[in-house]
Amino acid sequence: MNRAEIVIIGAGSVGLAIAKRLSIVKKNIVLLERHSTFGQDTSTRNSEVIHGGMYYPTGSLKARLCVDGNRMLYGICSAHNIPHRKTGKLIIANTENERKNIEEIYHQGKINRVPNLRMIEEQEIKSLEPNIRAKWALLSSESGVLDATELMRYFEQTALGNGVIIRYGHEVIGLEKCADFYKVIVHRDNGKIEEIVTDVVINAAGLYADQISAMLGINIEASQYRIYWVKGEYYDVNERHSGKMSRLIYPTPTPVSLGIHVRLRLDGSFALGPNAIYVNEIDYEVNPAHLGEFFSDAKEYLPFLEKSDLTPGVAGIRAKLQAKGEAVRDFVIRNETDKDQPGFINLVGIDSPALTACAAIAEEVLDIYRNL
Ligand SMILES: Cc1cc2nc3c(=O)[nH]c(=O)nc-3n(C[C@H](O)[C@H](O)[C@H](O)COP(=O)(O)OP(=O)(O)OC[C@H]3O[C@@H](n4cnc5c(N)ncnc54)[C@H](O)[C@@H]3O)c2cc1C
Repeated sequence: MNRAEIVIIGAGSVGLAIAKRLSIVKKNIVLLERHSTFGQDTSTRNSEVIHGGMYYPTGSLKARLCVDGNRMLYGICSAHNIPHRKTGKLIIANTENERKNIEEIYHQGKINRVPNLRMIEEQEIKSLEPNIRAKWALLSSESGVLDATELMRYFEQTALGNGVIIRYGHEVIGLEKCADFYKVIVHRDNGKIEEIVTDVVINAAGLYADQISAMLGINIEASQYRIYWVKGEYYDVNERHSGKMSRLIYPTPTPVSLGIHVRLRLDGSFALGPNAIYVNEIDYEVNPAHLGEFFSDAKEYLPFLEKSDLTPGVAGIRAKLQAKGEAVRDFVIRNETDKDQPGFINLVGIDSPALTACAAIAEEVLDIYRNL
């Protein structure tokens, strides 16, 4: 039986950021990932946007960790040559109601201490982005895009260099609380079953974080840890339009999503998405029947677009704590002592903006770890 001090479950952006951060202060860390490499679930299936942090409610973990994570990510990307660009972003409005909405986001951003936010009007919008149609906009100069794969590669390589043992093709299938340690039961891709004994377990399993919690007997309904999968599809836009926008362009958000926006890539090409559909299975196919809806939403603010410009692209799935129609929920990041599981650091409902926030989430986990 193997012995570790800390076992981290999940090599997405969050698990890898935690592994890298803890490896600076601790040895004997094992990171377990069921896929054959990192980032195969949500961390490579997203808009790769470094969010500013203005959408999230006052005092929430999402607000604090997004604002801190934004600053930290730009620092990490610059210091380690990870491709990124502080493009800036416009959240646009074309009706009075939408204008009120973006003003509320502006005020929330001020409360959340998001730097460099400004309300602008049609003339200035035209001078910044001549190809879009918008009467008003909230300009967030701290928003940007990055290469999420390269970010994760940096975390992975640094963690490995600091002695973290990363085991790909290792799926956690059971967890047991013993006297003062945990037993982690792992199914390896060679078919073997292995057990690891550890003092601390960190659950960064994304879409399956509720199932990992349930392995320890935590009642996911009573604790409100059930994760709802919300699919987001993208449509690629013909490359003849590449370079037509230099900033991220977002409509006003809905309660489940930030809306079908321009997902700007580092090479200047772009896609539209994501939509938001509650699903019961993991399936990354993009439904061609949704083309019309993408086109009509985006045509509102991208008048140059033709239907024939759109082709199905990629999809990702959000790990949301709110059921359809329920109010937005915050990240759960906590030591589960009060559920009789001390040393089980649980991360549940780690949806957007967790890519932006991953380095700040890792600091939060380090604080919890130091206070165990
Ligand atoms: C469509 C979409 C767009 C988004 N856009 C943005 C954006 O622009 N900016 C932003 O900040 N955020 C965005 N997000 C959110 C962001 O992508 C996620 O919050 C973030 O990637 C979550 O990272 P994670 O490491 O928690 O999860 P994941 O990347 O899903 O990693 C979890 C890992 O755990 C592993 N795992 C699960 N169960 C087990 C097990 N039993 N044993 C071993 N391993 C296991 C999985 O295989 C997986 O690799 C978006 C999300 C979606 C879906």
